Parts: sequence; structure tokens; C-alpha cells
Amino acid sequence: MPKLAERALNITPSVTLSIDSKAKQMVAQGIKVVNFGVGEPDFNTPENICYAAIKAIHAGHTRYTPASGTQDLRQAICDKLKTDNGLEYTPAQIVVSNGAKHSIYNTLLALCDKGDEVIIPAPYWVSYPEMVKMTGATPVFVETREEEDFKVRIDELRAAVTPKTKALFLNSPSNPTGMVYSRAELQAIADLCVEFQINVISDEIYEKLLYDGAEHISIASLGAEIKDLTIVINGMSKAYAMTGWRIGYTASNKEVATAMASLQSHATSNPNSIAQFASVEALRGPQETITMMVAEFARRRLRMVELINNIPGLSCRMPKGAFYVMANVSQLFGKSIGGEVITDDLKLSSFLLEKAQVATVPGSGFGAGNFIRLSYATSMENIEEGLKRIADFLNS
Ligand SMILES: *Cc1c(COP(=O)(O)O)cnc(C)c1O
Repeated sequence: MPKLAERALNITPSVTLSIDSKAKQMVAQGIKVVNFGVGEPDFNTPENICYAAIKAIHAGHTRYTPASGTQDLRQAICDKLKTDNGLEYTPAQIVVSNGAKHSIYNTLLALCDKGDEVIIPAPYWVSYPEMVKMTGATPVFVETREEEDFKVRIDELRAAVTPKTKALFLNSPSNPTGMVYSRAELQAIADLCVEFQINVISDEIYEKLLYDGAEHISIASLGAEIKDLTIVINGMSKAYAMTGWRIGYTASNKEVATAMASLQSHATSNPNSIAQFASVEALRGPQETITMMVAEFARRRLRMVELINNIPGLSCRMPKGAFYVMANVSQLFGKSIGGEVITDDLKLSSFLLEKAQVATVPGSGFGAGNFIRLSYATSMENIEEGLKRIADFLNS
């Protein structure tokens, strides 16, 4: 067989998905696994949204739509960006895609050539570096520190900039750390990006999942110059528990939007027409389900953080957004448990799954090998049970 393309050979498989498939295999064998690996809300899509989809089918909205989304949905997105984020866009600046992940990929395809560099603060979402590599560009990592809430230092960001720097990834609230940037921090980042004319890929998918009075600010709202450089990424998956519907979108300047729309028109055409109708209802309909979901996540978050910090050898900070906790497990490295040595996060995660039937995600996948990521998008009972199992296992 002829050799595969380099872009295919260079991709690292997603650790999140590999742990998940192993956990699902165990569940299929009848083993009761507590799953802290999940990356999606455990709530169902709200009823009004489901009903809008059924109505769309019966009304015959089952044909191709414009490649970058229906006018109605793009207008609803513009209205949302105005109300929630203070951002003015026209529908021509919006491209609706098959999930926010697809929106990020479109963005990179439109911006990056081979040899370009894209700065990614670590810890980062698993797919960012791989998607950058798929375009032929090079990911450049900037490390952050747990004691600084995993926020990027401006001097270190500046040091990473080269003439080849094309874009910077921002993800606030963050998966995996739950960190949320303040206005002042974003302003400093914006100033740097304007100075060097670097695009900002601002992944705001968790904007609604905030705790302790944290506020979401879109970096694009900090001035005309930074707005022109920013590609806002957002979507339905997290705020409306619509992961399976596959609707995400970008808001950007017209040139980037037009380029992405052309690329998408040849690659996938429009995203699912029925899901687009449902998304209009999600954005325009009642928003109370978000409040309920956030209140429940907030309760679980406190309990999970408390239980983790009660376990000797584990520690974590209080996340301000999203639904993940990064537990620092570096104190366990080199220790022997049940006759085997915990060498690193990968070993610990696979131990926890095999020996304690608890699924977690090793931090290496996010560029943070001293940590494991636990999701609290699961019931309070599972949180209690899972952390008890971890405590018992580490005691053994
Ligand atoms: C879940 C997630 C996304 C994208 O989700 P889609 O289902 O593709 O819309 C994007 N960024 C981060 C950080 C995520 O966690």
C-alpha cells in the first residue's frame, strides 16, 4: 500500500477518547465504572429545543441551507453576540459549522500555511495542537503555572512571538483548568496581539458555565483593532446540552468569514438543517435551563474540590468555569501502590480505571503531566462514590 500522508501519520490519537472507549468496554462487560472522563453535560437537551427540531422536520426544513447557515440562525447569533457579549456583527460575518470543533478547524484552514506558528498556552484543549498540525502549521506552547491559576504570563507570551506567529489560542473559561481571564488580563493579551498583528482564536464555548460571580468577557469586545483580529468560537454543545446536534459557529471579520464559508462549502456544505432550526430556538427561547444546569454544576464542583483536597497526595484549585477539575497528582509519582509504582499521570489514570473502576483523563493529553482531569458533569452520587474509590485505592 502507498504510504499515508504525513498529516495523517503526525496526529496523536485523543487520550480523552481512548480512556472513554476503555471505560465503555468495561461497562459493556458489566463492570460498574464511575466516569469522570466525560466532556459533555449529563443533562438532556431542553424540551423546547427538541420540539423545534420535530417541528422543523414536519415543516419540511430538510433540504440544503446556505453553506454557512440559514439567515435566521446567523441573525439569531448576531443578536446573541450583541446582547451577551456587546459585539456587533452582521450575518455575513457568521459561519455556522458542524460543532465548534469544526469552526476551529475552519479557522485554522483559513489562516495557516505550512511553516506558520500558532501559540497555544498549556494546559490546552487536546485538539488544538493536532488541528494546527493538520494544517501544516506548528504549535508553539507557552507553559502556565497552577499557582497562577494557569494564566499565561504576558512576558512569556511576548517571548514566544516570532515573525511566523499567525495566531494565539485563548480558551476562557478553560477546558481543562476551569480558569477564567479577567478584563485586565485580556486587555494585556489584546494589546500584545494588536502590537504584533496576531489573530486570536477565542474559544468561548464555556461562557455560560461560570461560578462564584465570575464574568465572561470576549476579548473581541475590547476594541475595534482586537475585534478585527479575533475569531470568536462558540456553539450550542455546552450551554444547551446539545453535543450530539453538532452546531458551532464563528464570528470574525468579513475576509476570514468569506474564506471559511468557501472552504466549508466545498468540504461539508451546510451543517444539519434540523439542528440549525433547533439552535434558533435555543438562542431565542427561554434560557432558564442554563441557570438550573449551572446551579447544579456549582454544587457538584464544591463537593468534588472538597473531596479531592481531603485525599492525601492529591490537591486542586477551585475552578471558576466549565465543568472540570485539574487534580495535581505529582506527589504520588514514585510511590508504590498495591505493588506497582506510579510513574506518571498515564500510569495513575490507567491504574484508577483498572483497580478502582474510576475513569479520569491523564493531564499529558492537555500538556500537563502533573495532573489528571476529573469532570463533574456526572451525578453527586457518582462524585461521592468515585472519590471514595480513589481514596481507598490510594490507601491500599
Ligand atoms: C467541547 C469543546 C468544544 C467543541 O465542542 P463542539 O461539540 O464541537 O461544539 C470546543 N472547545 C472546547 C474547549 C471544548 O471543550
